[in-house]
Amino acid sequence: MLKVDLHSHSTVSDGLLSPRQLVRYAAEQGVGVLALTDHDDLAGLAEARDEAGKLGIQFVNGTEISVSWRRRTIHIVGLRMDAEHPPLVAGLARLRESRFERARRIAAELDKANIHGSLEGAMAYASERIISRSHFARYLIDEGQAKDMRSVFKKFLTKGKPGYVEHVWAELHEALEWIHGAGGIAVIAHPGRYDLGSTLMNELFTEFKDLGGQAVEVVSGSHSSDEFGRFSDLARRYGLLASRGSDYHGPGHSYVDMGRLAQMPATCTPVWHDWREVLEAA
Ligand code: AMP
Ligand code: MN
Ligand code: MN
Ligand code: MN
Repeated sequence: MLKVDLHSHSTVSDGLLSPRQLVRYAAEQGVGVLALTDHDDLAGLAEARDEAGKLGIQFVNGTEISVSWRRRTIHIVGLRMDAEHPPLVAGLARLRESRFERARRIAAELDKANIHGSLEGAMAYASERIISRSHFARYLIDEGQAKDMRSVFKKFLTKGKPGYVEHVWAELHEALEWIHGAGGIAVIAHPGRYDLGSTLMNELFTEFKDLGGQAVEVVSGSHSSDEFGRFSDLARRYGLLASRGSDYHGPGHSYVDMGRLAQMPATCTPVWHDWREVLEAA
């Protein structure tokens, strides 16, 4: 069975492996088609593609765009974009820039909770390009404030907890315009992770579909098997293709190991159903 993994992170954003190491690891785990989808960045794609070419695995350009929708944060994965498309490049640069301003506010909130030095602490883990809550989380674990990634987000950095700040990301329509302008496919990332009741979830799917969005992650490292069923039904109802991705962030920082993701339910039309990458991998 061909292993397709269309959601993963490298050190360009908040993963632990460099793009090259990530591709090597994917190949070792038997992944045949891989997308690198760093948060709000495309900087790892060239290196990853180069390594994939050497190892004979099929590589797909990707990114995971942070979006504000109804005052909530959701993630939209873009796949198969032209990584040079100027509006996409500029839009992502704007989001990365805003992350530094947000990081200062996160550190100020943590200061109020008597946790000092977190900006420098988080930056020590971050690439020069992006600072994320994951980097703050690693600093908090280092400082003994929590024992692992799961527990740190229960105590800090989330709504109502120290270190939480609101932030304005891209608008949904902007993210889709950037992806579509670059010739790519837009995918709702891990819908099971959003705190949306069924009414809001339906509104999100309706709006996404109306804006020309094409797919939704049905099989995700952060979905339960019940959620595979729930989102494959929603995909069918809205005429969306189904995607599959581990959301791998590196050893010990992932919901599921690379290569161990469940297969796509047979009732779904995979987003890759007509891709040459898959024909070439098979
Ligand atoms: P940001 O985009 O800066 O808000 O950071 C979000 C990142 O933090 C996600 O992409 C995950 O890698 C990580 N994250 C958020 N919530 C959790 C959680 N509950 N458990 C583990 N990692 C999380
Ligand atoms: Mn992440
Ligand atoms: Mn995400
Ligand atoms: Mn992700």
